[in-house]
Amino acid sequence: MAVSNDHKEKLEFIEEMTKNTDQVQAKVLSEILSKNAETEYLKRYNMEGATDRETFKAQIPIVTYEDLKSEIQRIAEGDKSPILAADPISEFLTSSGTSAGERKLMPTIEAELDRRQLLYSLLTPVMNLYVPDLDKGKGLYFYFIKSETKTPGGLVARPVLTSYYKSNHFKHRPFDPYNVITSPFAAILCQDSFQSMYVQMLCGLIYRDEVLRMGAVFASGLLRAIRFLQIHWRDLINDIETGTLNKAITDASVRESVQDILTPNPDLAKFISDECSVENWAGIITRIWPHTKYLDVIVTGAMAQYIPTLEYYSGGLPMACTMYASSECYFGLNLKPMSKPEEVSYTIMPNMCYCEFIPLEQSYGKATGNLVDLADVEVGKEYELVITTYSGLCRYRVGDVLLVTGFHNAAPQFRFIRRKNCLLSIDSDKTDESELQKGVERAAELIKPYGAGIVEYTSRTDTTTIPGHYVIYWELLVKEGGRWPEKEVFDKCCLEMEEELNSVYRQGRASDIIGPLEIKVLQSGTFEELMDYAISRGASINQYKAPRCVSFLPIIELLDSRVVSTHFSKGKPQWSPQRKEMK
Ligand code: AMP
Repeated sequence: MAVSNDHKEKLEFIEEMTKNTDQVQAKVLSEILSKNAETEYLKRYNMEGATDRETFKAQIPIVTYEDLKSEIQRIAEGDKSPILAADPISEFLTSSGTSAGERKLMPTIEAELDRRQLLYSLLTPVMNLYVPDLDKGKGLYFYFIKSETKTPGGLVARPVLTSYYKSNHFKHRPFDPYNVITSPFAAILCQDSFQSMYVQMLCGLIYRDEVLRMGAVFASGLLRAIRFLQIHWRDLINDIETGTLNKAITDASVRESVQDILTPNPDLAKFISDECSVENWAGIITRIWPHTKYLDVIVTGAMAQYIPTLEYYSGGLPMACTMYASSECYFGLNLKPMSKPEEVSYTIMPNMCYCEFIPLEQSYGKATGNLVDLADVEVGKEYELVITTYSGLCRYRVGDVLLVTGFHNAAPQFRFIRRKNCLLSIDSDKTDESELQKGVERAAELIKPYGAGIVEYTSRTDTTTIPGHYVIYWELLVKEGGRWPEKEVFDKCCLEMEEELNSVYRQGRASDIIGPLEIKVLQSGTFEELMDYAISRGASINQYKAPRCVSFLPIIELLDSRVVSTHFSKGKPQWSPQRKEMK
């Protein structure tokens, strides 16, 4: 396959980094430690300028976000002294992981944008090895920005992708025939998600013959786009037929961005209308965009739940999971992007940050034992990822559990197994067990006056709806003298629970990325049946606890067959971009 000089250089870079994994890691650590030698954090732990692994591992504790909260709060309040990093903190990246219900704030430095850009620049050369002629057409990508806030000290706080799309790195990237996208910048940068999606879809339809790949960051985002088309195709074809943009698009720069490409095209309008008006949307993606070679979406981890629906709409197109990244740091890429979702492994690029690994058996509670270096992990073992970044995170537990599946040169390849403590996730929301518990407790207050209480509960996500939503199963006990609450009370319980969930969940609800929470009330005795079932499959009676989240189909079927009433949240929980004060 033809490989341009630029692509060749990038592929050589990957080879060089992965052949010298351990040396690169030593260099990265030494660079980070020498650059940040005078920071309050490294001085506190008596590093005294040392840059070697042994001293680092002996002196620096392994931490979680909670351990760094006071440093992060000082930075947020405007303390500009070198607390964690010597370079000035340029902004905060708001992670979808939360702390006390609010997005975690990850301090970052300007230079990290270059490192992220570098990782992005490796994706196309790798993809080009597997899929030919991507320079002969366009990519239809649905990209969105989210709202941003300022911390009391004046630093911007926003998600990492919002930061990237707004950066000059993205806006002014040099023309690259392999990376031509259908969406105008103005539409991507439009804060109003309806207008943004509308115009991105419109352009995707106009360029339908040129589209070679379609994508969004996560599978959930691509399905949202399909759902949007289902709801709005009549308006979209009207625009295409008449060559005039829907009046609902009010953002001047967005209107201007389609001025030149939106011309009356009745044939195209008729074609799309014929495709969309049929009941059966199986294979709609390849019917409307017949040259699409693959879907570019992450379907690993929590996103695996969307694979069947994406297969249905795309008629079984390959799904490429290209990279593994976080707000803390971008980690690596998939060197075989066309592999099946269940076989995807990511290669951590050793130049991005210094990585250590807690063997899974040690990773519950405080990690104390020896951590394993990137080059030394063993195939077949699971580890929790710990990183040290140029932005000043030292031995920070990311919370991801990874399985080593093999090596590319000397660089290990990892399957993403799960995020620790994440029970429920629809999009980027992550709800853990204690958050779910608090939500249930708060909602239970509403049924207390009836003498009713919740004996047991469990949960799951339901992705048969678009957007998907949380389902909570309740088994109730009504005390003597009490009575069964009315339907309206259970309906209110749904919203009450949502009010208690974290801000990423509530933001998802506010923007319809997550559907209304559902409570299913069960016949009494259902959880006992569930226990009998688990025991019949080998669970120990003494140790049995009702699972707080279920995904095994026979169990879901059992629960669903015992439902006595179903309730949905009738409103939306409160959410505002403003953060609660850090405590
Ligand atoms: P955030 O900090 O909000 O950017 O979320 C980062 C987290 O998303 C990571 O720590 C992972 O848990 C998850 N994640 C990122 N990339 C992937 C991927 N390719 N597959 C599965 N999960 C991912």
